[in-house]
Amino acid sequence: MNILEEIRPDLRTWKPYASARSLIQNKNDLIFLDANENPFGQWNRYPDPLQHKLKTALAHIKNISREHIFIGNGSDEVLDLCMRLFCVPGKDKVLICPPTYGMYEVLARLNMLDLIQVPLLPEAFTMDIDSLRNTIHQHQPKILILCSPNNPTGNVLANISDIFEFYNGWLLVDEAYIDFCPEKSCFPLLQKFPRLIIIQTLSKAWAMAGLRIGMAFAHPGVVHFLNAIKPPYNVNELSMQKAYYYLTEKKDEFEKNRKIIVQQREELALRLKDFSFIEKIYPSDANFLLVKSPHSERWKNFLQKNGIIIRDRSSQISNCVRISIGTPEENSKLIEITHLFEKTELL
Ligand SMILES: *Cc1c(COP(=O)(O)O)cnc(C)c1O
Repeated sequence: MNILEEIRPDLRTWKPYASARSLIQNKNDLIFLDANENPFGQWNRYPDPLQHKLKTALAHIKNISREHIFIGNGSDEVLDLCMRLFCVPGKDKVLICPPTYGMYEVLARLNMLDLIQVPLLPEAFTMDIDSLRNTIHQHQPKILILCSPNNPTGNVLANISDIFEFYNGWLLVDEAYIDFCPEKSCFPLLQKFPRLIIIQTLSKAWAMAGLRIGMAFAHPGVVHFLNAIKPPYNVNELSMQKAYYYLTEKKDEFEKNRKIIVQQREELALRLKDFSFIEKIYPSDANFLLVKSPHSERWKNFLQKNGIIIRDRSSQISNCVRISIGTPEENSKLIEITHLFEKTELL
């Protein structure tokens, strides 16, 4: 694979912004008067544009070498940069499989890319391989985005590598929720498929949404070009330090909380099944449940009146709401208010 031929033509000879310090190797004991920084204060220095330290921690956890890792200001930035890197605005196409994460469409439109959609098959939300094959053949999309576990349906997509039997564009697999089911990751496919880009985040299972750290795991050539086109200081110093600290010092706590969330998800699903007004609870590998009920809208409004906010997804999947898994206390409160709803509103 010649990566150069696959990226946006005008970016092939792109000269990245050279940050003031990027050429200096050993930074110890030097006086820095090159970046118009203020010599006083705690956060006065620009952050490391290539995030070496944070990447070392991630490389260790993910068991992959650093040159396969790109870090963005949240995975939303990673997705945006991938679209810019491969696609010509007004010309190229992005293929998605709805119902899925809304940002894919927003970002495609922002980058003036044609959005093509092949819906997941109803109810089980698996990929429609025949339709994907036909659509790819007809439209030749530059990028295909799959989300696994998928938001908002919660299921993992099976047999993702089959796509490469008839697709030779870029496959972005968004694994935002994969740490809730790590054994189902596409990570093992990276070696075999250089056109696979796996996108993950510290926002969900790692509980750091406020820090805005997203990652791409990809062929080193892709990482190289993503680094060349990103804003030079896209990940800030405070976030890098905090993320490094949690990844290296708080791993046990993360593990413990992850298990609580998975256990709570199963318990909440069981308890919700007892309500006769609830029609279906979809199986989930993530930290949320997709729930179907003909009374979903009234239920959602009643919960909101009682201080609990859930997400209406009926615009994507009729009569469905998406409920994030909270603490045991929050989930009990949800059940309690739902009992009240059933008793007082559904007579
Ligand atoms: C939450 C979520 C993300 C996370 O985005 P960040 O910008 O990293 O916070 C990405 N993809 C999907 C499908 C999500 O649900």
